[in-house]
Amino acid sequence: MNTDELVKWIEELIRDDMLWKFYKGIEFRHLKEEVLREQHYECQECKKLGKITRADTVHHVQFVRKHPSLALSKYYTYKGKQYRNLIAVCKSCHNKLHPEKIKSKVKKLLNEEKW
Ligand SMILES: [Zn+2]
Ligand SMILES: [Zn+2]
Repeated sequence: MNTDELVKWIEELIRDDMLWKFYKGIEFRHLKEEVLREQHYECQECKKLGKITRADTVHHVQFVRKHPSLALSKYYTYKGKQYRNLIAVCKSCHNKLHPEKIKSKVKKLLNEEKW
């Protein structure tokens, strides 16, 4: 799959609210295993705080929704410098990196409670 096809696919998934299909796809699952292995299954966020925690997921520094072309890239370039786009993280750090997920959950709960 080239970048154009990737972007087209992801944009369609976002439109249909099916982005989970990307995460379950063979391309991303392979990449995720590779990144976890390369980063020794250690949560990179916990590591910054001097803690060693087992990572079980991979986070996109450049969010897939905003940067679909980087969805399968390990690195991205910003102002001529290369940075990691995929980082191994634990569940709790991953939730912190996605405040929007918690917000939508709270919103859902509040809406449900109204009824
Ligand atoms: Zn962590
Ligand atoms: Zn993430």
